[in-house]
Amino acid sequence: MKHHLATETLLNTLGVSPLKRYGQNFLIHEPTALAMVQAARIQPNETILEIGPGLGALTQHIPFQTNPYISCEIDRTYHAFLTSTYPVNTTHILGNFIKKDAVQASVILGNLPYYVTTEILEKILRDYHGVRVAVLMVQKEVIHRIDAKVSTDSYGPLAIMVSLVSDFSFLQDVTKTHFYPEPHVVSSIFKLTMHDRYMKVDRQAFFYFIKKMFLHRRKTILNNLLPEINNREEGVSILKAAEIDENIRPEDIDLETFIRLFNKFNLVKSI
Ligand code: SAM
Repeated sequence: MKHHLATETLLNTLGVSPLKRYGQNFLIHEPTALAMVQAARIQPNETILEIGPGLGALTQHIPFQTNPYISCEIDRTYHAFLTSTYPVNTTHILGNFIKKDAVQASVILGNLPYYVTTEILEKILRDYHGVRVAVLMVQKEVIHRIDAKVSTDSYGPLAIMVSLVSDFSFLQDVTKTHFYPEPHVVSSIFKLTMHDRYMKVDRQAFFYFIKKMFLHRRKTILNNLLPEINNREEGVSILKAAEIDENIRPEDIDLETFIRLFNKFNLVKSI
């Protein structure tokens, strides 16, 4: 209750109310905010990027003395508030994270706005190179798609993209009462530890390809491949070269097999 009042007072001082259209559910439980920042195990000098800092629930735990910090916030009021509250060793970007060019950062933190969670995750996974770790909060239901296993209903482009570049670990659920205003659903915090096991794969092109392969998830992989190639024979031969049964569905194809398919597809396209 106390935290709730402190947040309301701050909002009153700034003369604003939380905006639904920007997914503004502010974290008001300090131990959770601290745990999230600590989970990143920030090393001295690592640049930290925070997506959607809002009123600064996470920001207040950033070690500004030892680490450069960049924020990206869409809302002018919070951008101005953050800029004046944390002026040293910081860069505060005003605007839509999805539309901004990627910046160089080792650590990414964010309690993500729910209306645009998938797009933000895709942007991080596709465009952010050189990241060591990302600690993020999303609605719990999104976790099922992020950490989905092959041959399950939730398995699709997001899970494939996540495992192409990172190792996923679940950290904790966060109850609705830890936010102001309260969201409708439970949230979850997770960590992505980036790896370079598939560094030769062009992320941009691979992500584009995977999305095409899942356009019709109930159809066979051959049918999903057809619009991308010249004819059926070509599709059959690409799948054969990649050692994939033409009749299976995309949801039954694991990451390494998709990489094989992508490579064979590119080979044919480049001839
Ligand atoms: N980090 C704060 C916290 O934990 O209390 C705020 C989290 S709130 C769920 C999401 C924040 O992201 C809000 O401050 C909102 O204005 C901001 N936001 C929404 N859409 C955004 C976008 N496309 N780009 C950058 N920031 C965005």
